[in-house]
Amino acid sequence: MTDIVITESIDEDALKSVLAGFDIHYDPKLFLRHEDLCRAVADVPALIVRNNTQVNAEVLKHAKKLVAIGRLGVGLDNIDMETCKTRGIAVYPATGANTQSVVEYVIGSIFVLLRRAFFATPDVLAGEFPRAKWQGREVTGKRLGIVGFGAIGRSLGASASALGMEVVGYDPYLKAGDPAWSQPWGKVAALDLDTLLATSDVVSLHVPLTAETKDLIDRKALAKMKRGAILVNAARGGVANEKAVAEALRSGRLGGAAFDVFVEEPLSKEKAQVFADCPNLILTPHVGAGTAEANRRVSFMVAEKIRDHLGGK
Ligand code: NAD
Repeated sequence: MTDIVITESIDEDALKSVLAGFDIHYDPKLFLRHEDLCRAVADVPALIVRNNTQVNAEVLKHAKKLVAIGRLGVGLDNIDMETCKTRGIAVYPATGANTQSVVEYVIGSIFVLLRRAFFATPDVLAGEFPRAKWQGREVTGKRLGIVGFGAIGRSLGASASALGMEVVGYDPYLKAGDPAWSQPWGKVAALDLDTLLATSDVVSLHVPLTAETKDLIDRKALAKMKRGAILVNAARGGVANEKAVAEALRSGRLGGAAFDVFVEEPLSKEKAQVFADCPNLILTPHVGAGTAEANRRVSFMVAEKIRDHLGGK
């Protein structure tokens, strides 16, 4: 009898060491085959997924004996949490295990987008040497507005502050006096969203995707931002409206943007055309947490949680 179904890639060392002794059905492409997935989960107590597996009501209906789900990452928008709660299915995200990788992705994007010159390779290869064209901006002294001051937001704040950025935040779920606003590296001004948008040189999104955060950064919000500001979305697709951001880049209202996450994932060639001809734009395929180190930490953390929940073997 299978104990654990794993539908997406996991670090093989975690599989062999932590989950040794369990009967495992490991198929890193299973998330692509909905009917096979429904069949595979039918009698298993545990399921391990990343963000591509839609653990929706239908999958859960088939998973009659499911008691625990491990999520190799942190966002839970691909899991029907309501049904899990009702049925008492424990859900274990890899909280904190990929934070540093996302922070480094954002910091790297900010440097590239403010400085711009890293996009000059084609000019230089073509024998041009247009130095004035590639004048950039410094990171030090710029204001970073962090939308969603949770685990990643706070860690990003620490790194940005060490680089000489002024860090401000917007998070309506943290009251003004919350200790989160007083970090060991400094006090963070808790602003309302409009003030954050109007005064930040860089805005970085770190909220979950909810009814409230969908299209949080739409055309209206973009119009409130400083002209030439930078926007980073390494949170969830749809928190910033893709069409509105593309328009703002083309018009010069936004000075640059990095998108790691999209409404449709994987993003099709056709849908990607919404971003065609946008200047100073970085598009990456949901790899904010995509480092060897994060993958290892995430895999071990989730494997240990599932092993403990099943009582070890
Ligand atoms: P977290 O739960 O620690 O923090 C989220 C914060 O957002 C919380 O403080 C919460 O109060 C705040 N928030 C919720 N609704 C809000 C709203 N309407 N306005 C402002 N703030 C709001 O989560 P985290 O671990 O910091 O992750 C943040 C986001 O990053 C999640 O969406 C997660 O899915 C995403 N993520 C992406 C990658 C990637 O590969 N790109 C990797 C890890 C996490």
